[in-house]
Amino acid sequence: MNIAILSRNPKLYSTTRLVEAAKERGHEVRVLDVLRCYMNITSMRPSIHYKGEDLTGFDAVIPRIGASVTFYGTAVLRQFEMMGVYPLNESVAITRSRDKLRSLQLLARKGIGLPVTGFAHSPDDVQDMLKMVGGAPAVIKLLEGTQGIGVVLAETEKAAESVIEAFMGLKANILIQEFIKEAGGSDIRCLVVGGKVVAAMKRQGKEGEFRSNLHRGGSASLIRLTPEERSTAVRAASIMGLNVCGVDILRSNHGPVVMEVNSSPGLEGIEHATEKDIAGMIIQFIEKNHKPNSTKTRGRG
Ligand code: ADP
Ligand code: MG
Repeated sequence: MNIAILSRNPKLYSTTRLVEAAKERGHEVRVLDVLRCYMNITSMRPSIHYKGEDLTGFDAVIPRIGASVTFYGTAVLRQFEMMGVYPLNESVAITRSRDKLRSLQLLARKGIGLPVTGFAHSPDDVQDMLKMVGGAPAVIKLLEGTQGIGVVLAETEKAAESVIEAFMGLKANILIQEFIKEAGGSDIRCLVVGGKVVAAMKRQGKEGEFRSNLHRGGSASLIRLTPEERSTAVRAASIMGLNVCGVDILRSNHGPVVMEVNSSPGLEGIEHATEKDIAGMIIQFIEKNHKPNSTKTRGRG
């Protein structure tokens, strides 16, 4: 196959591993900086140009689109889809998963366990809003945050109100969530490829930290999933329409609850924790499933 990887940085661990895995399996592979792609959307024959070259002949495209370039990145991916190239994850599914509110609403609709969650822009009655999610302690999140930044634990009602008011002053969209204390500062990252959990790790926040993000000093270890956790992860991936994703789960007293679904999961932490060749599994999935003109939405969504 001839594979394109959309990634801003060819030196990133996940990108180099995907390149390596594709080459090992005898494929042609090229890393393209998504922001350098420019497109013709007026002609009957949609095309993508890159540094003066007309890009043609790709069988599959692996989107590794960072949160900060979602808008342009998914537009380029959509163009690949219109050209008939098989996308590992479809543009519509990526857009869906990048919107935290939309994701939670979709998952809730299908009965996936979630932390009790409220969201707001500028509520007039902050106390009622807080009561709705069970009061303090509560976790308050900035919608635009990643890597644990903008996620605050408010231990008391007063603290929660202050944080909500402060965020409101910034005119930010916020999410207010029941604090899953029993998770003990840890969460579970399930890596789903083609409807199966192929690897899972437990992330534990450092001493005194409730956020388990590896970027915040958390550490990863192996974990055995319960059948319920496994099926929750698989269902979450399917509801989002993602072939490959990371599903983050908290172990709560009321069963596994999904926190988020990531359409470009990092491979470094999970490959090291599990010693599995996830990049190889992703390439194998493409080998088995790629077909020209197979995008369900044909880039129209
Ligand atoms: P980000 O997108 O910035 O990673 P998350 O929603 O994943 O934000 O939150 C960061 C971390 O904070 C999670 O990995 C988890 O360890 C912890 N956390 C988030 N929400 C809750 C919650 N409702 N209860 C307990 N811990 C939480
Ligand atoms: Mg997270």
